[in-house]
Amino acid sequence: MVKTEREHREDIIQIGKLVFGKGWVAANDGNITIRLDADRILATPTGICKGMMQPDDLIIVDMKGNKIHGRRERTSEILMHLTVYEMRPEIKAVVHAHPPVATGFATAGRPLNLALLPEVIIGLGCVPLAGYGLPGTSELTEPMLPYIPKYDALLMANHGAVCYGEDVYQAFFRMETMEHFARINLVAELLGGAKVLPRGEVDKLLDSRTRYGVKAKVSGEPGCPLAAEDIGAGQAGAGEERFYVTRSELIGLVDEALKARGLA
Ligand SMILES: [Zn+2]
Repeated sequence: MVKTEREHREDIIQIGKLVFGKGWVAANDGNITIRLDADRILATPTGICKGMMQPDDLIIVDMKGNKIHGRRERTSEILMHLTVYEMRPEIKAVVHAHPPVATGFATAGRPLNLALLPEVIIGLGCVPLAGYGLPGTSELTEPMLPYIPKYDALLMANHGAVCYGEDVYQAFFRMETMEHFARINLVAELLGGAKVLPRGEVDKLLDSRTRYGVKAKVSGEPGCPLAAEDIGAGQAGAGEERFYVTRSELIGLVDEALKARGLA
């Protein structure tokens, strides 16, 4: 059933409350948009907390970003949303926020690209990291252009993340999956390092998408996600454990071995 503009407004208000409630934004950060039709985008305006909006606070812009309806002003980040809509005709909603753990990865220069969790591999493939671009300028979207056609969730270096989908709930859920994944990845690292799934298992998960009815954009892009073999972890035989030594410990071990053979 096609939703009315009023219903779309209410959906954005609800998603705004969720994004704010989850702590994915501070103060007036973030923005949410819905494609109403071929020429109009319903958008959150600039300078408003996404958890405290009223339906009439939202504005409508055209496909060039010019405001055509509403009291409030448009956000400079609208250009990023318009780029996604232009490059992906099937996309009907875009959510941009700064979820802290995923944004932490983006700030550390790290994509979320390891094959760790079945749901993430099936739903997103992986989340690549687009380079930094100055917010409010075309530089913001420039580094994202190669990724937008292939992925449904992107990290933006030293900034945040953007997710999109066929409706605003799907865009929101993709961001939720991404942030949840980032948290689990971080905890696994604190506990000594995540164990990456082998290629065979990753391929089975990617193949199972049709069974689950998942229409994910990523279909086995090289390195998305990285399997155990891709990061060298698969070469160690079963039951073989990796360990790490410092430089001086390694020199000590080599010295000891040489001495034991009467060579030093
Ligand atoms: Zn932002």
